Amino acid sequence: MMPRAFPVGTGWIEVVTGCMFSGKTEELIRRLNRATYATQRVCVFKPSIDVRYAEAEVVSHSAHRFVSRAVDHAADILKHVGNAQVVGVDEAQFFGADLVEVAEQLANEGRRVVVAGLDQDYKGQPFGPVPNLMAVAEYVTKTLAVCMVCGAPANRTQRLVRRERQVLIGAQETYEARCRLHWNPEPFEPQQQRLPLPNLPLTSTH
Ligand code: ADP
Ligand code: MG
Repeated sequence: MMPRAFPVGTGWIEVVTGCMFSGKTEELIRRLNRATYATQRVCVFKPSIDVRYAEAEVVSHSAHRFVSRAVDHAADILKHVGNAQVVGVDEAQFFGADLVEVAEQLANEGRRVVVAGLDQDYKGQPFGPVPNLMAVAEYVTKTLAVCMVCGAPANRTQRLVRRERQVLIGAQETYEARCRLHWNPEPFEPQQQRLPLPNLPLTSTH
């Protein structure tokens, strides 16, 4: 029998991951919008802990938005997913380890699962279930921001306020994107001089 040109009935997991402000949510919304244009049934979830911009929407720092459902636990996704063909999850790092099993079950049922979340916390440590999701996913996309000190590609999140707990919900006032050279795991540091952008040794293609 000839192999099919398209894998009918096969689900998969896509992970979009990187530091804060790297465009994870923008990319998630872009993928979900395209699925919607193709009249696929799309359902989006985020942890109820994240109500920075809206309770019933996934919203990017650049104000792109997509209607979503806030849930307390990853298992709640299974209760509400219905017959969705495409399942989006944002801020995956705030869910428990069971998000991996939930995503696997959804993909095994034949659904496309698109998960966005932070790969590292502000100390540079792997964050919640995201690293394990990256291990089992079919596709992993690493997004990069722009370092707020030098303009180089940034894959770290600098915490700007001195709080020791891992989860501290905030945006520009609390965090900024930094490259590995200008990132510091200590939450607070004196104002660093910002280099003029034309002097940058830009080598990344991102
Ligand atoms: P994430 O979900 O990864 O935190 P978003 O998709 O919500 O990112 O937001 C990406 C947007 O953040 C960019 O399009 C830009 O408007 C804004 N932004 C703010 N600071 C930066 C930065 N240092 N580098 C890149 N984008 C930034
Ligand atoms: Mg986001």
